[in-house]
Amino acid sequence: MKPQIWFLTGSQHLYGPETLQQVADQSAEIQRTLGAGLSGAEIVTKPVLTDAGAIKQIMLEANADRNCIGIIAWMHTFSPAKMWIGGLDALRKPLLHLHTQHNQSLPWSTIDMDFMNLNQAAHGDREFGFIQARLGVPRKVVAGHVADPAVIARIDSWARAATGVQHVRGLRLARFGDNMRNVAVTEGDKVEAELRFGVSVNTYGVNDLVEVVDAVADAEIDKLIAEYRDLFEIDAALLGDRIESLRYAARIEAGLRQFLTEGDFGAFTTNFEDLGGLRQLPGLAVQRLMADGYGFGGEGDWKTSVLVTTVKAMGSGTGRGTSFMEDYTYHFGPGEPKILGAHMLEVCPSIASAKPRAEIHPLGIGGREDPVRLVFDAAPGPAVVMGMADMGDRFRLVANEIEVIPPDEPLPNLPVARAVWKPAPSLSTSAECWIMAGGPHHTVLTQAVGAETLRDFADMVQTELLMIDERTTPADFSDRVRWNQAYHRLARPL
Ligand code: MN
Repeated sequence: MKPQIWFLTGSQHLYGPETLQQVADQSAEIQRTLGAGLSGAEIVTKPVLTDAGAIKQIMLEANADRNCIGIIAWMHTFSPAKMWIGGLDALRKPLLHLHTQHNQSLPWSTIDMDFMNLNQAAHGDREFGFIQARLGVPRKVVAGHVADPAVIARIDSWARAATGVQHVRGLRLARFGDNMRNVAVTEGDKVEAELRFGVSVNTYGVNDLVEVVDAVADAEIDKLIAEYRDLFEIDAALLGDRIESLRYAARIEAGLRQFLTEGDFGAFTTNFEDLGGLRQLPGLAVQRLMADGYGFGGEGDWKTSVLVTTVKAMGSGTGRGTSFMEDYTYHFGPGEPKILGAHMLEVCPSIASAKPRAEIHPLGIGGREDPVRLVFDAAPGPAVVMGMADMGDRFRLVANEIEVIPPDEPLPNLPVARAVWKPAPSLSTSAECWIMAGGPHHTVLTQAVGAETLRDFADMVQTELLMIDERTTPADFSDRVRWNQAYHRLARPL
């Protein structure tokens, strides 16, 4: 079932039943246009609201409804906003205030006071805006006629963010082992994360996983190998004298999937320093699970793992990909400066430009058998990278608009999947700002949703977001970091 958005139309008794019926009919028309334009959610019509009791009741129902990801509210007429205080105060789902009206043009030659009394969102919505501002309700305001594709696109962006919120609020994450020793940025407050985002993060001994991996039946492995043959180019050695390595990689995938399914986990982490009885660092298995929507972070990085699966949920159905990523190394020139991103093994094939190739190569760290991995270049196109740091008193999201591009030349000796990109506005400004903000080296790279969706998400979970885009300068950005610091220390808790 598609995620549902409840559409609330505000009015009051004063107008009488005939006018209220007109309000309902015109609102339904707007909802049909909106519903037809949304890519990732459907609109659910609710009766016109005219009193405080009904408003509070519908908000409580929205909170309790598992399919409802958020509320759109529009005041077709004038809806005295003290009626909305109790309901807005109770609302726990994302809210979008749509400021629109039924008619696109003014009927200049026929307009009379009846028309004026029916179509007064221009001031009705301002009354509603005041009460939201007075209460400090987190919300997005979108103004314009629903026939305008830009209006629909902004609402769609918000709906995808709300889908991410819904996903992370019920998320369970399994960490196999702790963080990589002595690494700072992958640490964080798991209690605060559960309160702020709703994700439950817990650690399991890696040998709990090994037990499940070791018990996987041969038939299950045969099935996976057949699937790999369908989906990937496979290195001849992996089907020849090194087939046992491929079979062991498949065994890890089956075991990991079983562990996650049985525990109802939607995300996980591994740590190459703590592999217990695993014979390979999980590479192919991690890539396959990420492609199915699971979150992943290397070196125990649970915060990035949370972001990976949450952003994947936001991008669901777009046909474009999202992956765990790490800024690895730079090309300062000749030509335009760019970043080569990759990880030891674990890049999601959902961002691949062509059929991935399963290969086996030695891995210098981890001290285990050579791991199997999928190798590919990322598909070109616009994307965003985003990372999360724990600043001690709050989480901070840092994001950068980027353009994934083909590598300047083939990379025949690089045995891992990779993405090459140009960060906005330039490599130097992007890197200076990212580093000023204390942004992490691990990120989620998404081609499925844009910066606006990530901004909407940050607003919904009331978390700081520092965005680096075409308009960013290091001077303005440093000021923003300082102002944010003050704001987040002064902002009253909602
Ligand atoms: Mn890493």
